[in-house]
Amino acid sequence: MSPAIPSRPQSIALIGGHRALDLVNTVSWRHDPDQWRENLAVPLDLLTWAHRASVLHEPHLTAIRLATAEDPKLAAGVLRRVHELREQLYLHLADCIDDPDREHQIVEGSPLHRAFADAVTASKLAGTPARWTLDARVPFDIPRVLALHALDLVQTMPLDSLRRCDDDGCGWLFLDTTRNHSRRWCSSGDCGNRDRARRHYARSQKTTRRDASASGSQ
Ligand SMILES: [Zn+2]
Repeated sequence: MSPAIPSRPQSIALIGGHRALDLVNTVSWRHDPDQWRENLAVPLDLLTWAHRASVLHEPHLTAIRLATAEDPKLAAGVLRRVHELREQLYLHLADCIDDPDREHQIVEGSPLHRAFADAVTASKLAGTPARWTLDARVPFDIPRVLALHALDLVQTMPLDSLRRCDDDGCGWLFLDTTRNHSRRWCSSGDCGNRDRARRHYARSQKTTRRDASASGSQ
């Protein structure tokens, strides 16, 4: 087995346009087994990313870090729950993208439904318009806060704006907010650049082949 590619929770881009999509995008190269990378590989990765993504705020960060450091079993359980939420959410969103004409029900008792119900039970309604809100104070609040983001996404997302990066291996999701819905890449500087380089290479190979066959015929 090849060694795991190191995670990058401190630098992975937050470009989904919604925090729940940024969560889904904590897996890099989801559809490319050679480059696949888990950016939330250990509990500390989760805390680092959650703090960066404003899921976990400063006053409670230290207490949660201590609690997870003192109880590795608890920390592993929290991380597992985040992974489960993320993967269930990805499956649901991928279904919505791949089969946009069908209704995609989140049925009662399904893992996503259970995660939403657990998160709502621990939250309070606040603000105008009212939203379910929760400040993460204990480790298991992290998956709950993320579930509230996921719930917000599935309740409010404009389906025609939800996109998957056009790169075959990437698998990142984002909301396309361009006026003519023309965004193809998670990042034009990353997957977009790679595609431009690939097309440039293909063009130059074609020219080289054409030149070679032309000189061969002379
Ligand atoms: Zn991409």
